[in-house]
Amino acid sequence: MQVCVIGTGYVGLVTGVCLAQIGHQVICVDNDAQKVKLMQSGQSPIFEPGLAQMMAANMEAGRLEFTADLRVGVERGEILFIAVGTPALPSGASDTRYVEAVARGIGQHLNGGYKVIVNKSTVPIGSGDWVRRIVLDGVAEGNSEHTNFDVVSNPEFLREGSAIYDTFNPDRIVIGSSSERAIDLMQQLYAPIVTRQFAQYPDLPPVPVLVTDLTSAETIKYAANAFLATKISFINEVSNICDRVGADVTLVAQGIGLDTRIGHKFLQAGIGWGGSCFPKDVSALVHTATDYGYDAQLLKSTIETNRQQRLIAVEKLQQVLKILKGKTIGLLGLTFKPDTDDLRDAPALDLIDRLTHLGAKVKAFDPLISSARSHPDLTKITLTTNAEDLAMGCDALVLITEWQEFQLLDYTHLASLMERPTIVDGRNYLDAVALTNAGFDYIGIGRPRVD
Ligand code: NAD
Repeated sequence: MQVCVIGTGYVGLVTGVCLAQIGHQVICVDNDAQKVKLMQSGQSPIFEPGLAQMMAANMEAGRLEFTADLRVGVERGEILFIAVGTPALPSGASDTRYVEAVARGIGQHLNGGYKVIVNKSTVPIGSGDWVRRIVLDGVAEGNSEHTNFDVVSNPEFLREGSAIYDTFNPDRIVIGSSSERAIDLMQQLYAPIVTRQFAQYPDLPPVPVLVTDLTSAETIKYAANAFLATKISFINEVSNICDRVGADVTLVAQGIGLDTRIGHKFLQAGIGWGGSCFPKDVSALVHTATDYGYDAQLLKSTIETNRQQRLIAVEKLQQVLKILKGKTIGLLGLTFKPDTDDLRDAPALDLIDRLTHLGAKVKAFDPLISSARSHPDLTKITLTTNAEDLAMGCDALVLITEWQEFQLLDYTHLASLMERPTIVDGRNYLDAVALTNAGFDYIGIGRPRVD
């Protein structure tokens, strides 16, 4: 099938590359000319495991192209994916201006033939009908007569860091539309994934496809992220209770996770959730609820608990070091999760802000972040390129991101380089006993200290 993906970020580029990999003819459009140039030369503008190689192979096979010209993409595509960003506005509502610009542009360039316009971006509930109207406005502006299209909501559930695996092995595919023709085309598009032709575990039953109306599909995306964020805020709240009563949250999580109604996933206590989706999506759902006269108190608490949790490492540092002014704190990791270079709304940024406000010197080492150009807040800190340089002269380390390589560090050596070998394990990721034996004062989240 002829596919056009508009917006080549973490979602759009992975979608485009994976659809090419399963045999479709894909053209990806981005309005960032520099990014397009980079991709045309065979390089990926983002880090995602396996992406660069798969991208190169599909370009080589002639199934994947890149352009900055929306007209070319719209004319060629039978299925047009909108995959641009929908960041949060200060009010918490979703900023839909990029989606609006793309929908208008699609309308202006619509040519003959039936098209399916797919909202892959996470858009506020009710956007499906709004996109239809904006496309029609664009059609009128473009003096065209082509209005042979339907709008579909096809929310994306991939996780950065395992985006390719998730695309080929999804838990479900949601298709929201009132048009049978559009639903049928979407099912054809995803057939190789549904039948697990490209899956890691081909013997599993077909991927469930849930066909819904537009509004329900849009709500599914927000409800899924709000539920996951709430589950993490829940265990973080339990961890704070554990800290006070002397229980170990990792054992508590194990104990409740064995209940199949609860399950083990998303029960790792730590310094809170972040990234480009959970914060903005939970806020947007609260905002939508308010717009429709409902006070979403549980979700507001999910957000507030997380806001406080992000600073829990500072409290723990203050308990040990007392005054932080003039102390040097080293951050192991910066990104909101491992295997990504995405720093959007990462808890590390709040921590940097608080620690520098308190007068601490902050250093950081992250395997994928080597330049302060990655985020303006990084100009306030010193970036190092290895754990030894990070530890040198530090009063304490804080583990922020569960990069696998952090489990393999020589902590005895790191302890010898520090002023005072203290580590706050912000993800309960390291071996508390081993770290203590290496000479560290190990402080976990919601866990008693090792004797
Ligand atoms: P991103 O910021 O990484 O990428 C957006 C891309 O769109 C950028 O390359 C930008 O240059 C391009 N763009 C902006 N305006 C454009 C225009 N007018 N024409 C063409 N290109 C344009 O965003 P992302 O993280 O890929 O997220 C995209 C959407 O998917 C968001 O709605 C997000 O909520 C949703 N989503 C993201 C994830 C994730 O893990 N990142 C997961 C599920 C859903």
